[in-house]
Amino acid sequence: MARPYLSVVVPVYNEEANLGALFERLILVLDAIGKPYEMIFTNDGSRDRSALLLEQFHNRYPDRVCVIDFNGNFGQHMAIMAAFEQVRGDVVVTLDADLQNPPEEIPKLLAGIEAGYDLVGGYRKDRRDTLFRRYASKLINSLRASITHIRMRDQGCMLRAYRREIIDNINASNETSTFIPALAYSFSANPTEIEVEHHARAAGKSKYRLYDLIRLNFDLMTGFSVVPLQMFTMFGIVVSIMSTLFVVYLFIRRIVIGPEVQGVFTLFAILYFLVGVLIMGLGIIGEYVGRIYQEVRRRPRFVIRRTLLAGTAPTGISGQASSRGIHGGD
Ligand code: UDP
Ligand code: MG
Repeated sequence: MARPYLSVVVPVYNEEANLGALFERLILVLDAIGKPYEMIFTNDGSRDRSALLLEQFHNRYPDRVCVIDFNGNFGQHMAIMAAFEQVRGDVVVTLDADLQNPPEEIPKLLAGIEAGYDLVGGYRKDRRDTLFRRYASKLINSLRASITHIRMRDQGCMLRAYRREIIDNINASNETSTFIPALAYSFSANPTEIEVEHHARAAGKSKYRLYDLIRLNFDLMTGFSVVPLQMFTMFGIVVSIMSTLFVVYLFIRRIVIGPEVQGVFTLFAILYFLVGVLIMGLGIIGEYVGRIYQEVRRRPRFVIRRTLLAGTAPTGISGQASSRGIHGGD
């Protein structure tokens, strides 16, 4: 089989209500581009009919639809990672399955790649998400901008196009807890950003609960910056200097004026504040240590039950397909 020019990667988790419309719109758009393409879907342990729909889609277009079936839910970023290991195209586009990223925007991204950029990120025009998500995202975007070297308008937008070399580097890094747009940016020599449409979720609910969002953003902060640790060191230095001065002052005061008995509440307020900061500091260290532990254990990042490759007959549950999918194992 000739290598496709374009590989479109879509992570899928309980998206049965969206897949039909997605397939139709994707095929229309990709056919219109007029270059050979493939689509790679990762079923991230869906418990609805997504797996069946994906298989049917593969059977309809066996030459250009690849389906990777995880045996559990490993998260959106791991689903994309698994697809990245399969891509054959020169250009790779990532897209959400819920139609929040309109497939009709893909040609715009490709135009950016053709213009010589190796990474074309989308930023969402009139983002259609809850008020909370939009504000939290603004906050995290500015926090990320201040503590990492990543310059990006909208880190959460998954509608992006990458040149093949960037994907090769992402595959080589073999990371477990990561944030793909940021990782891609760190390998890019020449990134650009374009505005893309954003729609409300066509059907179903967001797969990210508050806790998942917090975890994901910790992955981003710890994966691309050690500034949180350094801030702690600096805060510690400042507090130590201040408390030394305070002790000297109290000592002199005691000799000159006499013992101090007032101010118990103030003392407790300061103490509680410092204990809070300490616990937070421990937590931050823990976030890094936990991720180091995850990496050094070298367990598989995800487990593939089977892969329906584009251009071939389906492969079975065992053997080649699954062992290829296990990464980092010994
Ligand atoms: N997704 C996934 N695994 C997960 C969570 C999400 O593959 O554990 C997929 C989901 O099916 C969708 C994309 O990732 O295609 C984005 O998820 P979602 O729309 O829920 O996120 P949001 O748009 O709310 O950030
Ligand atoms: Mg979505």
